[in-house]
Amino acid sequence: MAALSRLSKPSSKFFANITRSVYFYSSASAAPEPEIKSYFQNHNFARKAPKDRNVQWVFLGCPGVGKGTYASRLSKFLGVPHIATGDLVREELASSGSLSQQLSEIVNQGKLVSDEIIFNLLSKRLEAGQAGGESGFILDGFPRTVKQAEILEEVMDIDLVVNLKLCEDVLLEKCLGRRMCSQCGGNFNVANINVKGGNGNPSISMAPLLPPAHCMSKLITRPDDTEEVVKERLRVYNEKSQPVEEFYRNRGKLLEFDLPGGIPESWPKLLEALNLDEYEEKQSAAA
Ligand code: AMP
Repeated sequence: MAALSRLSKPSSKFFANITRSVYFYSSASAAPEPEIKSYFQNHNFARKAPKDRNVQWVFLGCPGVGKGTYASRLSKFLGVPHIATGDLVREELASSGSLSQQLSEIVNQGKLVSDEIIFNLLSKRLEAGQAGGESGFILDGFPRTVKQAEILEEVMDIDLVVNLKLCEDVLLEKCLGRRMCSQCGGNFNVANINVKGGNGNPSISMAPLLPPAHCMSKLITRPDDTEEVVKERLRVYNEKSQPVEEFYRNRGKLLEFDLPGGIPESWPKLLEALNLDEYEEKQSAAA
């Protein structure tokens, strides 16, 4: 119940109260380039007490771990926007904008796009949310480097960081089985995973997450979900993003969560870890 009071959703609008003033970045060790700084020049994201706004959470984890799935479920559950920087990048890629060509080369090689581009896309998304009266968020895929985490820390308070974990064999299989409906954008997975435990890792089984019949003929695979690119994305994660875990661990904000299986096993356990299980029971009883 302690977490529940932390999670109760007040009516005041966090983003609606953003004050207009110049943002100065103070850390010399990780000073952002002038271009990055400029995106925040007109937006000093107000730091409100948690009781006056909705949750501001981050989901961390390797490619394929299921950040999108669980962050999206949780955002609906808590009534906050789910903001995935990977989705913002893919939207930009699908547009005919000038960035599109430059981005596709980087993304299709499994590399990270520049902080400048990511901060540009994210600040636009936050501005749109502000205009629409959004409160709080669950960030997914951001921050991906310590530098991004440091800049984020300067502009807003992050309450909790959930670090989802799965062993690498499973991650690869999950990425290779991932499919998306080109029409409705739904995410599915055709992989039937059964990995035997060993070396301290438990056995893990995950049933496929199959699409409804009307999506079946419209399934596409992400161009960066090939074996070669997934391995590169995992390498980049270990090099650039794993230190972000340490960054938040040192600040006492990191909640480690080992996924025990697919959604049916993991979702209730995740709610339990977040002290939200009682909240769900009450909602189901009231429904
Ligand atoms: P994702 O859907 O999170 O796997 O992201 C897809 C791709 O978008 C990544 O492989 C990166 O190229 C790019 N991307 C997403 N988020 C970030 C970020 N925070 N920093 C840099 N690149 C990112």
